[in-house]
Amino acid sequence: MYCPFCGANDTKVVDSRLVTNGDQVRRRRECISCGERFTTFETAELQLPRLIKQDGSRQPFDENKLRAGMMRALEKRPVSLERVEEAVANIKRKLRATGEREIKSLVAGQLVMNELRKLDEVAYIRFASVYRRFQDLNEFREEIDRLSREPLEE
Ligand SMILES: [Zn+2]
Repeated sequence: MYCPFCGANDTKVVDSRLVTNGDQVRRRRECISCGERFTTFETAELQLPRLIKQDGSRQPFDENKLRAGMMRALEKRPVSLERVEEAVANIKRKLRATGEREIKSLVAGQLVMNELRKLDEVAYIRFASVYRRFQDLNEFREEIDRLSREPLEE
């Protein structure tokens, strides 16, 4: 942490406390060189990673788009909005937990599929068929077979 007054990179923390519901740490620092004091706020990295598309382009994570895609797959399915929101929160938590700044959109898509699968298998198949753009019917059947074999993962 550079001192904003003299640019020295040696500062010491003289006080630190939690603020805003414990989401942030406020630190009072003192510069070893010039003795000036200043305040910093630290927050956990809450940014969601950007998505790397298959063509290499990058896109910011878009929660609304995610929710819209899931709702489309869940159309007329017996799944409450509350559970959808839970799934969205799970996906965001897992994306953050990667600690990556950028992540392949396929990996994110897999997270979405896992959550949908826990909610509703029809929705999962709908989403997977669009998302993966199954090459042919055989591949689609394989996916359904796999589904019926594999136990649900948590
Ligand atoms: Zn200084």
